[in-house]
Amino acid sequence: MSITRADFDQYMVPNYAPAAFVPVRGQGSRVWDQAGKEYVDFAGGIAVNSLGHCHPALVKAITEQANKLWHVSNVFTNEPALALAQKLVDATFADKVFFCNSGAEANEAALKLARRAAIERFGAQKHKVLSVLNSFHGRTFFTVSVGGQPKYSDGFGPKPAGISHFEYNDLKSLEAAIDDDTACVILEPILGESGVLPATKEFLQGVRALCDKHNAFLIFDEVQTGAGRTGSLYAYQHFSVTPDILTSAKSLGGGFPIGAMLTTADIAKHLVAGTHGTTYGGNPLGCAVAGAVLDVITTPAVLAGVQTKHDRFKAGIEKINADVGVFSLVRGLGLLIGAVLKPEYEGKAKDVLNLAAEEGLMVLMAGPNVIRLAPSLVIEDADIDEGLARLAKALKRFVA
Ligand SMILES: *Cc1c(COP(=O)(O)O)cnc(C)c1O
Repeated sequence: MSITRADFDQYMVPNYAPAAFVPVRGQGSRVWDQAGKEYVDFAGGIAVNSLGHCHPALVKAITEQANKLWHVSNVFTNEPALALAQKLVDATFADKVFFCNSGAEANEAALKLARRAAIERFGAQKHKVLSVLNSFHGRTFFTVSVGGQPKYSDGFGPKPAGISHFEYNDLKSLEAAIDDDTACVILEPILGESGVLPATKEFLQGVRALCDKHNAFLIFDEVQTGAGRTGSLYAYQHFSVTPDILTSAKSLGGGFPIGAMLTTADIAKHLVAGTHGTTYGGNPLGCAVAGAVLDVITTPAVLAGVQTKHDRFKAGIEKINADVGVFSLVRGLGLLIGAVLKPEYEGKAKDVLNLAAEEGLMVLMAGPNVIRLAPSLVIEDADIDEGLARLAKALKRFVA
């Protein structure tokens, strides 16, 4: 049976527009397509393949677990889930963990928990959800409505009620929106999809204080920033602002689907047996892989390496930019990096992405004006250098 890109258009729901080539194999930070062409991977899925492709520790963990036990349902618990929960609790502010299968599901759980806890403590009126304009929290109907990007939530009929939005890095905007009926405030410590824009520490501290003043829970969506991406295990640790509820997915599974919601014992107690659930959440396979991911990522050498590699990327991009002059700035933390196109190249991120792919380099966009890099946290320096050389070629063609 011969499989081609054309099969996508014939057989798949057209909600994606994938590239013209089909990747078939990956090793470390290199990927090969059907034609045998090789790519350097600066995308890491979308901040997912935190240890690159086919990392030996992850191949070992999944193979061993695959020969033991795949699924038992949540009628039973299992060893990999309990081991992973303990690791997450030991490494964070949290006392309790809920497992699911994606970032959207983790946020769905966080929002449901926040509302339920707020309503049980203060009454039915305390249900308001505040979130950032142009943020991204996933594609379930609740999370996409919370996300504050109408282009993703319009056209599906009536939206969940009680959601309003404020401006990122603008405390006055939150101050105007929050009141004693606010159940929770949810935000990304770095706006990921919307341009790799980091929060300021003052903003996050101010948000924490406003939540405390109004008895609102603070939810950090760390689906993109978590599991080592910023050089801390979670970005809240970098900013020294602790949320009440935190969500994690993407890099946590290193390529295997898993999501997690972390919280304190005092809040967790509101999700009593029967109030929430998922069939696959906390399955032994996913938890075994995520456990191995955490074991590698939490070694000091890997976390420190994220910062060193950030510096190498930044210096490299700035050197290329001195020549081609397409970016106005390079921002982000750790290995979540955004290179912002100058006004004269506005809207052209997709062109850069396509040219990069032609040169054998996978990069991402974060909106139409930002090139986003979210590579493996253990990408080799040689791969960084080779990828940057290919980026330079692509950008020279872009400005030619
Ligand atoms: C990707 C992402 C999500 C959604 O995760 P899925 O696994 O696609 O459901 C939610 N929040 C943020 C910040 C993300 O980057």
